[in-house]
Amino acid sequence: MAESIYSPTYIREQLNARGLRMQKKFGQNFLISPAVCENIASAAKSTTSEPTVCLEIGPGIGALTLRLAEKFDRVVCIEIDRGVFPWLGENLAEKDNVTLFNADALEVDFAEKLAAKEGEKLAVCANLPYSVTSPLILKLVESALPFESLTLMVQKEAAERFAAKVGDDSYGSLSAYLAYYGTVKKLFDVKEANFYPRPTVTSSVIQIIPHQKKPVEPKDETLFFAVIRAAFSARRKTVYNCLSSALSFSKEAVAAALDQAQIDPMRRGETLCLDEFCAIADALCTNL
Ligand code: SAM
Repeated sequence: MAESIYSPTYIREQLNARGLRMQKKFGQNFLISPAVCENIASAAKSTTSEPTVCLEIGPGIGALTLRLAEKFDRVVCIEIDRGVFPWLGENLAEKDNVTLFNADALEVDFAEKLAAKEGEKLAVCANLPYSVTSPLILKLVESALPFESLTLMVQKEAAERFAAKVGDDSYGSLSAYLAYYGTVKKLFDVKEANFYPRPTVTSSVIQIIPHQKKPVEPKDETLFFAVIRAAFSARRKTVYNCLSSALSFSKEAVAAALDQAQIDPMRRGETLCLDEFCAIADALCTNL
């Protein structure tokens, strides 16, 4: 009975019977609250049009997948763990709109796995493995797939970083990067007791809605991203020092670009907004 996958006792029994263990290295903390799964899946669905294919990264034993399968036309899941994969297949055997792949989401081609047909819209919904949250989010963003929304459970601290605005303590390169990509909103927190095994920290569900039109239009997007990364490469250094040491431009070129962009070279990366990163990158571009 698929609903028993929300019972810690059942999960423990099945792990023993199958000779499996929860894999810490894969960030395995399975959701055991049907209500939380329902809330996450509903939030994902509420931002999408029909018909929609939902990409789920790390379905585990299918706690969230069962709810997604009720709401989306198709669900495509990518699970790395070979051990739980057959069990996942059994739990979803009756859901013929779910496709499962046993693969590393950091390695796969999302477009190929989604195999979206003409007219199908795309969404992402996942309780992400915490150790690879940032690389997975970057990979989703860089895939350039036209997702209508990304509804993601991440550690509370990470959620704060992703949603941070310029001037906030947790504002970092990923905050700036995501602000360029879309609107990031924190939806709700999920307490430790909703997982098996219990994690040591609270989680939060965030939703990213990609911009229809980017807030700035850098001349060279790759250089723009490089400037953002470089500006945050050392927290207490000035923007001039960060850019001079982390980019392959001469100190003179960096000084000239900051001057042209009207940015005080003594400022720190965490005080710069997207417009300012764009102005610096565009000024550097003219010196290429
Ligand atoms: N979605 C399930 C749930 O909410 O109960 C499980 C979430 S658990 C936090 C993260 C899941 O991601 C695990 O099942 C883990 O095996 C899987 N995972 C970890 N790294 C992965 C990767 N690189 N690619 C695909 N799946 C991964």
